[in-house]
Amino acid sequence: MSNVGLVSLIIPCHNEEEVIPETYKRIKALKDSSGIFFEIIFINDGSTDQTGGLLDQLSLQDELVTVLHFSRNFGHQPAISAGLHESTGDFAIILDADLQDPPTVIPEMLKVAITQQADVVYGVRTQRAGENWFKKWTAGLYYRMLNKISEVELPLDTGDFRLISRKVIDEFCKLREKNKYIRGLLSWVGYKQIPFYYEREARFAGSTHYSLWKMINFATKGMIYFSKKPLLVATNLGLFCVFIGLGLVAYVLVSKYYYNQVVGGWSSLLVTIVFFGGIQLLSIGLLGQYLGSIFDEVKDRPEYIIERKTKRPTV
Ligand code: UDP
Ligand code: MG
Repeated sequence: MSNVGLVSLIIPCHNEEEVIPETYKRIKALKDSSGIFFEIIFINDGSTDQTGGLLDQLSLQDELVTVLHFSRNFGHQPAISAGLHESTGDFAIILDADLQDPPTVIPEMLKVAITQQADVVYGVRTQRAGENWFKKWTAGLYYRMLNKISEVELPLDTGDFRLISRKVIDEFCKLREKNKYIRGLLSWVGYKQIPFYYEREARFAGSTHYSLWKMINFATKGMIYFSKKPLLVATNLGLFCVFIGLGLVAYVLVSKYYYNQVVGGWSSLLVTIVFFGGIQLLSIGLLGQYLGSIFDEVKDRPEYIIERKTKRPTV
């Protein structure tokens, strides 16, 4: 497959010392068996274990390897973004370091891109080995809900594992927002996008860096950045409450003047106060989320800071 040009592999790594040697070995084997020209861009996202040293060694022994060392842990999404900015390939492929997205399917993805002239070939997970039912169930539910409210269509059961063409990389690099929800943005860009079904494997070693809390944050970011519909929740609930309130006023007046009944009971009053108080707090919280995101964007801080870059000079 030497006719496809250069393919940049973008691999974010945060404390992945256990998997990096194996990941590199498998990519090398793939390169030898397929004849694809790769450049491998590892992003060391503030690792505190031996990841940085291991990656430096690889870059010294192999000129195909570039390593971007972040000045601290900025997160998975900024790491991918840095990799895409660094890439020079005709295609880029975003890959987890932990071999959950098997590199062996890359030639097939490339074939799909070339034969069908697609600009994005996105991985759709038919199986998710090594992940518990809770993660699979919540992920399934979340992506379906996000799709309903999102302003662009976001494919289901997809992560960041995808192949993108130079055209899409260039468009992505023009985007100026700082808090990037990359899988959403790569759908937003448009062009011809084709699904590629694959079985997601279990992690080769180590454990996930996405704790429940991080997952919730990530999911909220996707929602806030890709939909303004949650803002309507406040308005709709408000309208609903106004109608209920009007109904209650009518009820009170009728019972007082027609039936001469006095409405008694403080418990109903308390329930009403707590319920509507809750709705108000929820709505204010929602506004706060959007306001916070705007605050982050207007500060205009960089997405990440690259402390150093290692690459063997070509002679
Ligand atoms: N990662 C990163 N920075 C982080 C967290 C994760 O660069 O702050 C990398 C990690 O090393 C891995 C990829 O992002 O290569 C996906 O993370 P992980 O495998 O923990 O997530 P999961 O696959 O469980 O969703
Ligand atoms: Mg993973």
